[in-house]
Amino acid sequence: MERKILIVGLDGATFDVINPLVKEGIMPNIASLIEQGASGPMTSTIPPISGPAWLSLATGMKPDRTAIYDFNYKRGDSYKLQGISSADFKGRAVWDYLSAKEKRVGILNYPLCMPPYEVNGFLTAGIGASSDRQYTFPATLKKELNDAAGGEYRLYIPYHDARYDDTELFLSELKKVLHKQVRVATYLLKNKNWDLFWLVISGTDWLQHIMWHHIDESHPLNQGDNSKKIHARFKEIWGIIDGAIGEFKNIVGQDTNLVVLSDHGFGPNDQIFKLNAWLEREGYLVRRGRLSRTSHIAKKLIYSSARTIARAMRLNRFLSGLYETGRKAKSVLRSGTLGQIDLERSVAFDPGHTIPFGGVYINDNLIKSPGQRQKLAVEIADKLRVWGRKHNLEFDIRSPNKVEDTMLCNHPDLIVGVNNYRCVVLKDQFKGELFEERPFSPRHTGSHRMNGIFIADGPDISSHRIEGVTVCDIAPTILYLFDEPVPVKMDGRVLESIVNPEYLAQYPIKRARDESAGKGGGHKETINSAEEMTDEDEELLKKQLRDLGYL
Ligand SMILES: [Zn+2]
Repeated sequence: MERKILIVGLDGATFDVINPLVKEGIMPNIASLIEQGASGPMTSTIPPISGPAWLSLATGMKPDRTAIYDFNYKRGDSYKLQGISSADFKGRAVWDYLSAKEKRVGILNYPLCMPPYEVNGFLTAGIGASSDRQYTFPATLKKELNDAAGGEYRLYIPYHDARYDDTELFLSELKKVLHKQVRVATYLLKNKNWDLFWLVISGTDWLQHIMWHHIDESHPLNQGDNSKKIHARFKEIWGIIDGAIGEFKNIVGQDTNLVVLSDHGFGPNDQIFKLNAWLEREGYLVRRGRLSRTSHIAKKLIYSSARTIARAMRLNRFLSGLYETGRKAKSVLRSGTLGQIDLERSVAFDPGHTIPFGGVYINDNLIKSPGQRQKLAVEIADKLRVWGRKHNLEFDIRSPNKVEDTMLCNHPDLIVGVNNYRCVVLKDQFKGELFEERPFSPRHTGSHRMNGIFIADGPDISSHRIEGVTVCDIAPTILYLFDEPVPVKMDGRVLESIVNPEYLAQYPIKRARDESAGKGGGHKETINSAEEMTDEDEELLKKQLRDLGYL
């Protein structure tokens, strides 16, 4: 019998949330998967952000190889960060390998897959897509999804908008979105031919970002009895998710291997750090229209004497009018993070990565020598750590490894995580304290963590707890379960310990130097079949990132 694999991705799921719900009996289907199958925590990418993490899950490669560290990246010479399209990531996804081997794949709501591209089956984009865009391959599938959903198939909720302060509004919209996603997934599971079906539910991530303070009594924004009531509603959503997993399991039957996993974990956000403001105070960054730190005092002196003279000449009103006009013009110029930075005078800055982490670039227009740039990066990392120790903050700072065969890897020189990602990193704020003990916003009270989840059950899976799983282990393990060779360039390994001894004995693990490109389209190694994103699609991705509070 030909085995099938169903993967249910729950964005941001963590055992810190799931285990108590399992104990309470709210998630009986997850409970039985854990009971009968293999499960354990799964380590995310660095940084633990949905975009790179879902790509590492799909490709078995670390961000150093996919070249994707965030939802946006530096392309070419400009420091203006651009949205990631499906054409940007390097390497091939597990569904590309399987497509080339004539296996049927069904990929639903997958992040960073805009525009969708040809596979042997279907592929629909998740985060970055919108139902008014062309987000499905084949294009005709879009209508089918809307029909199956019983109305427009909605892909996201802009939960960072102030109207979602109305918790009931958010919850009712989330339920509708989930309901439609489950209907669509059920329809596809039943009516399409597939060997690998992989769906991603992002609503779990939104729910936790916006509601963490209600489920965590120690959170500064917890509202006591009111939060207790809302916590009950939070559990209800997880109950719906669990019910959906049960429904999917019934549809696929006993002969399918079922995997439930997440891209990263979750925890409270109650701290912020202003990275570019720190770089400015240390003298590495200069804001547009500002004098560098050393000439600041001189400027103050000049300004105050000019004001005295102006007053004396009764020109004050005229001058202040002029000042106002200039200020407005400047504020337009300074919009966005990069707009505030003087690139001709700043040697190091974060041009505007999403808030879970900091990405510091050493300005290669000013510092040409790679050796000098590296020296400066080390200096900044050391200073940050020292500053962190003084203020009781733990900085996790890494330099990405440039992988030789990654053609286009304009990655940051430093990746900065603060307090295990509990503290978000703001780039566009320069005023006030550099570190503050407050959530980023009342609609963003939870943030990502490294510990995601991995649960698997099915005819080829053995039963036990498992440690040390990483997001890169999923793609090789899926290929192995289809008895396909595992490309040597994948960073992850086959999770042998979760596989039944009978299967292991019958099917030795095969390695492949590199697969032939094969037929059936798919993502190519360096020049891929995916088309570049249109300007409209890129704007949409950026808008969504703002709507979701990531920018
Ligand atoms: Zn995520």
